[in-house]
Amino acid sequence: MRKYKQLLLANKAWSFELKDESPDFFSRQVAGQKPDFLWIGCSDSRVSPEQMTMTPPGGMFIHRNIANLVNDDDMNLMSVLQYAVDVLEVKHVILCGHHGCGGIKAALSGGAPAGPVDDWLGNARAVYHAHTSEIESVADDDARVNRFVEVNVRDQLVRLARTSIVQNRWASGGQLVLHGWVYDLRDGLLKPLLDLDPSKPLDEVKAPERVLV
Ligand SMILES: [Zn+2]
Repeated sequence: MRKYKQLLLANKAWSFELKDESPDFFSRQVAGQKPDFLWIGCSDSRVSPEQMTMTPPGGMFIHRNIANLVNDDDMNLMSVLQYAVDVLEVKHVILCGHHGCGGIKAALSGGAPAGPVDDWLGNARAVYHAHTSEIESVADDDARVNRFVEVNVRDQLVRLARTSIVQNRWASGGQLVLHGWVYDLRDGLLKPLLDLDPSKPLDEVKAPERVLV
């Protein structure tokens, strides 16, 4: 059987199983969404936010891009953030990097295909230039990429915190916590790096402890 047809077959089995377990599952889905979380992660096929957190449909609003980067002129991410924070009123935003991220590897060593990918990684290269000594202090090649992954999560989380959407929510007293995590491909575990909330001055956010060791 052609592989793409297996997707359709698997989908039928999934739908039948859910209806069997919970006959009103899909009618509840139609009624609307009220997720608790916004997830911002990498597009990498090995990093599956709902699967690895056992989150059912409706539990998570999701945005993914290469290397989980935050640009305040990215209308895709900014509209997702605005809708999640202002309309869905999520209380937690999780920004998650991952072990061995190919986007971060390319930003560190070159090798991204010319064109949109290389242009996109400009943000990650800026993170490298801002923290060159921290990243280059790691001798091992793979460990250096993973340190860059961690420092990148920190910088992107601070960028997220500085957006007008998050700042307005915090100024109005709304509950919203930003979480920076990494996913370790070696053991399937999510490892928290840092949290940001209105009590933490953004100029004082330090580089996180190493967890991808
Ligand atoms: Zn990645």
